[in-house]
Amino acid sequence: MAGDAAKAAEVVLLMGPPGAGKGTQATRVAVARGLTKLSTGDMLRAHVGAGTELGKRAKAIMDAGDLVPDDVIVGMVRAEVEAAERIRFLFDGFPRTAAQAAALDALLADQGAAVTAAVSLDVPDDELVRRVLQRAEVEGRSDDNEATIRNRMVVYHEQTKPLLDYYDAQDKLATVDGVGSMDTVTERIHEALA
Ligand code: ADP
Repeated sequence: MAGDAAKAAEVVLLMGPPGAGKGTQATRVAVARGLTKLSTGDMLRAHVGAGTELGKRAKAIMDAGDLVPDDVIVGMVRAEVEAAERIRFLFDGFPRTAAQAAALDALLADQGAAVTAAVSLDVPDDELVRRVLQRAEVEGRSDDNEATIRNRMVVYHEQTKPLLDYYDAQDKLATVDGVGSMDTVTERIHEALA
């Protein structure tokens, strides 16, 4: 069969600590592979910007560097997945907890699909702090200050990093060195997914 409709389902997860460069790489990899990028951080920031009820609840949590409740996040993702004609997604910053990972599996199974690969961008902690503080100057994100960054790192190590083992146990994990030029890292991700 020819045509877009026949394109196989593909679900790539881009994982890694705050400041690892997920957002930049997610956009590039999604375009190159014909995937729809879904960034839960961007979706939440859009709600905050639009002043929705969800945005009002999320803002304080995000500014503290804590995680927005799983049911809120899963609800947002479910709406996108169920509305999609094809299951071809690149997730940026999701899942971040074991509950989110389980919910994603169930959601995809309902559509006859599954996670294809999880890419973990590996960057040392001191480099992460340096990058996020630099980004604070350029973008002015309200959660890019030193106290919040430290909490986001702790939350990542405690809640999200264990998910790498979950995907590794399914032979779906690719760990990619996230230190280097943006182009170099993009190339490494493509190689890991090839
Ligand atoms: P970063 O990875 O650089 O911290 P994100 O844009 O991915 O940035 O996330 C910013 C904030 O949005 C997080 O600190 C958290 O409060 C919230 N958030 C984003 N994605 C999720 C998620 N999957 N689960 C819970 N909270 C999330």
